[in-house]
Amino acid sequence: MKKLVILGAGESGTGAALLAQAKGHTVFVSDAGTIARPYKAALLSHGIAFEEGHHAWDKVLAADEVVKSPGIPRDIPLVQALVQAGIPIIDEIELASRYTQAFLIGITGSNGKTTTAYLTYHLLQAAGLDVGIAGNMGDSFARKVLATDHQYYVLELSSFQLAGMYEFKAAIACLLNITPDHLDRYGQHMAPYIQAKFRLLQNMTAQEHFIYNQDDAHIQRYLQQTAIIPAKHPISLVAPATKGAYEQGGYLHFSLTNQSFQLPLAILKLPGKHNQVNAMMAILVASLVGITPKAIVAALPTFRGIPHRIEWVAQVQGTDYYNDSKATNVAAAYTALASFNRPIVWIAGGYDKGNDYALLQPLVKEHVKTLICLGKDNTPLRRAFQAIIAPIYEASHVEEAVSLACSLAQPGEVVLLSPACASFDLFKNFEERGECFRKAVLRTKQHLE
Ligand code: ADP
Repeated sequence: MKKLVILGAGESGTGAALLAQAKGHTVFVSDAGTIARPYKAALLSHGIAFEEGHHAWDKVLAADEVVKSPGIPRDIPLVQALVQAGIPIIDEIELASRYTQAFLIGITGSNGKTTTAYLTYHLLQAAGLDVGIAGNMGDSFARKVLATDHQYYVLELSSFQLAGMYEFKAAIACLLNITPDHLDRYGQHMAPYIQAKFRLLQNMTAQEHFIYNQDDAHIQRYLQQTAIIPAKHPISLVAPATKGAYEQGGYLHFSLTNQSFQLPLAILKLPGKHNQVNAMMAILVASLVGITPKAIVAALPTFRGIPHRIEWVAQVQGTDYYNDSKATNVAAAYTALASFNRPIVWIAGGYDKGNDYALLQPLVKEHVKTLICLGKDNTPLRRAFQAIIAPIYEASHVEEAVSLACSLAQPGEVVLLSPACASFDLFKNFEERGECFRKAVLRTKQHLE
């Protein structure tokens, strides 16, 4: 039994504390900020010692092992002191994986993790497998393993989580894409970020499987330089891929050693090329665990995406309304705008983190019919697009934006909330922004139809 110190009492830290205590370790939780009420209540009710508002260095440095929240950077003095002292620092996923025998499916990448993880989970669950989902969203893996263990787990893994994983072994690893993200935590360098993503493959043997996006330049380069042990399954939107999946002629083609099959694109209810990538990955996982094409075909249409990610909300007078409130940066809005080949009434804006909108200009020119700005200060948006779209409208709240959109959109067109900005100028978070949009759309529908 060890003396375990947990740094950070969010979902992963609290989950780790509960699991570690249940497994007989002595646990101390330390959080430099204020611990949110439900997490504090969980620690108190289980009699787990904790501190908040500061870190008592002597207590932290007395640990045999530390579980660090992925949100805490490695370069803070306390973590550096732990490294100096030779105290192992692991992630909560690493801890939880010690206490399950489940078949682990790890999904990572810069974008599309949550969607792919949920679609994979949906396909496995619909086929009757005993499967759980955890990781970088919802309940922590530790909390899940403690409550009810499953035969299969789908895990969404961020680069920060992977950085604290050593013995963890995936049975199937999925790598969606690698684009610049979180570079502030990697000294503005891509190499350590890419390295962190590929940690997902450590400990895998030739009996296990690696599904990856063959079209991604960073992944391609890494694979040219590095020997990969697990069986490789590429996916592609542009070229045939052997022992993997690719899109061609309106079909998704799948070819594995023991089977090959095609599915028409129309079976996917999620818009956009990026979702074809996500779907190919999830379907390959399902095939590798033995789910038949027939069962996959039966389950696909009932997956409607997850809230706030180009989520279809409703059709109002022939116009489709989509909520992409999760698009808090330019790259995500780009993906959304590229997902439709119908005119778009685009609702954008919010807290601008110094966005460069130039990337969006060609797409906006091609697809966007009207821009409705929804933010406190819409000057940067107006400046970027005034030469391309006119007039540009402004709304001071969501209801006004939706009612404007409704008066401007024609049947067959799309109204898309994809802000390209953070939400905290007008909302608590992106979820609240998306919910307000959904409610406003449904109210409008009720009123008009
Ligand atoms: P993550 O969990 O990695 O943040 P999500 O599934 O939550 O990813 O999707 C967030 C946004 O990323 C989506 O709204 C979409 O704009 C974009 N996206 C989703 N899948 C992909 C993909 N495969 N490639 C590029 N962008 C994607």
